[in-house]
Amino acid sequence: TALLTGKYAVITGAASKRGLGLATARLFAQHGATVAILDLDGAAAKEAAATLGEGHVGLTCNVTDQNSVKAAFDGLIAQWGRIDVLVNNAGITQPLKIMDIAPGNYDAVLDVNLRGTLYCSQAVIPQMRAQKSGAIVNMSSVSAQRGGGIFGGPHYSAAKAGVLGLTKAMARELAPDNVRANAICPGFIATDITAGKLTDDMRVTINAGIPMGRPGTAEEVAGCALFLASDIASYVTGSEVDVNGGSLIH
Ligand code: NAD
Repeated sequence: TALLTGKYAVITGAASKRGLGLATARLFAQHGATVAILDLDGAAAKEAAATLGEGHVGLTCNVTDQNSVKAAFDGLIAQWGRIDVLVNNAGITQPLKIMDIAPGNYDAVLDVNLRGTLYCSQAVIPQMRAQKSGAIVNMSSVSAQRGGGIFGGPHYSAAKAGVLGLTKAMARELAPDNVRANAICPGFIATDITAGKLTDDMRVTINAGIPMGRPGTAEEVAGCALFLASDIASYVTGSEVDVNGGSLIH
């Protein structure tokens, strides 16, 4: 049965062809949701939305820019009259060591991953509160839990750990209005975020550290997002769900 029939969902950073956002958008659309894909490149977002079928929307949005965020979300609320689900998926990473993080690196990584999650959440919360229902799903990372170790630098780990704190604080504050907030911590997933940047040696080492012995797929993360976004997770809030092939079993 379809889990998101009649629901309206916004997914940030979902134009990337092999990314977690677009895989999530695809699964949400299959489950009956109307989806808006927000990304830096509006043409790419529109193109991605068109692959989902009729009625889905692609919009330009820079999640680090409050005016850009407000314009995109206000437009969607005017068009749809409601927003049921927000997936804060837009993210960037940089494989830097601690002493190599320059102010510009810090700003770029913290802004997209953490500030963007805050701004987009702030843009939907008044509407979700008025509806007395809503689900926010934030993409954190295994890097937040284990201090990197795969690809991101310490600033990425810090940003994604910040996302976990923000998620739990939002869950606490929004719970009385029946608005849920949860985080997903993907492990090593094959997408363009690391494409072309990993050597074969790195791949072998990474897979050796994963009990399931392989990277995850974007669809496997999307499945978790679908659960958290849907009403079957109606009593799940403030949680962080691992999608990592057992990487943290110890
Ligand atoms: P990706 O690089 O394929 O896609 C990221 C998307 O975000 C791109 O479409 C990009 O244009 C968009 N984006 C970047 N900056 C933006 C901004 N300022 N405003 C709007 N959009 C912006 O990455 P992915 O692998 O699909 O990752 C999706 C999310 O999952 C990210 O938050 C990432 O940190 C997280 N994550 C990924 C992995 C992995 O192994 N792939 C693991 C853990 C967490």
